[in-house]
Amino acid sequence: MEYVHRIEGERKISLSDFDPEETHGLKRNEAEEKMSRLTEELVELQELLYAANDTRLLVILQGRDTSGKDGAIRGVFGPLNSQGCEIASFKVPTEAELAHDFLWRVHLHAPASGQIVVFNRSHYEDVLVVRVHHLAEEKIWRGRYDHINNFERLLADSNTIILKFYLHISREEQEKRLMKREQDATKFWKLSVGDWKEREHWDDYTVAYEDAINKCSAPHAPWFIVPANKKWFRNLAIAEALVNALKPYKENWLKRLEKIGERELAAIEEFRRAAQSSGAKT
Ligand code: AMP
Ligand code: MG
Repeated sequence: MEYVHRIEGERKISLSDFDPEETHGLKRNEAEEKMSRLTEELVELQELLYAANDTRLLVILQGRDTSGKDGAIRGVFGPLNSQGCEIASFKVPTEAELAHDFLWRVHLHAPASGQIVVFNRSHYEDVLVVRVHHLAEEKIWRGRYDHINNFERLLADSNTIILKFYLHISREEQEKRLMKREQDATKFWKLSVGDWKEREHWDDYTVAYEDAINKCSAPHAPWFIVPANKKWFRNLAIAEALVNALKPYKENWLKRLEKIGERELAAIEEFRRAAQSSGAKT
């Protein structure tokens, strides 16, 4: 069973078809138990991905303000080995970034073999905030869907598993979360009048997200719509989708490790034989 909704290009979606409150009838404590099992599995899969060193994993997190991108990074990716997992956050582009094509700053952070990279926002901002706020001419941002598809095709053809998550919250839930930030000094660093202003563009963002999801999903780069009103369900759903996506590679990674072992063990043995016959100490 999948807790996320997988979109890979066949059907066109409306966000209103998905319930942000969904929890599949799970209770929070049941979910926590499942989460700890999935986390163990994910840690093990990451170790294999890292060791086999031939596959790359790119996770893209998108969602409106307060949808839980930071929380998901902590809750789902926190337990991973940080040696093989990088987080790349994309903010308002700098002058230097704006002086290049929109994918320049993004490509730089694409994962290397054996690595996981999580994008906290991504190149999709260039068809979301840019579209909603008219930061580029329509002709420019409309052309970007094809560029994004070609870019993701390139990454996929270079052994990159691409998984894109849209964290789906309701308008009411966003209001609650924004209000809560104002009551909690430890969350003050997140306060931004910009978030309230963005809220006024809720429907424009809905259209922009629907277009991004419908125009840029494919079996090699699916979108997952994650019911995200409940933080614990959001993390569980993402973790489960990651484990499901990585598991099919496990056998190949183990085989590769086996081969690496055979090759290196043979080299060590050869070295010992040569050393023995020349009388050297090892
Ligand atoms: P936060 O994720 O809360 O740290 O905010 C980052 C801000 O950067 C958000 O308001 C994004 O919309 C904005 N941002 C990210 N990428 C772009 C982009 N390509 N063009 C304009 N604004 C962007
Ligand atoms: Mg913010």
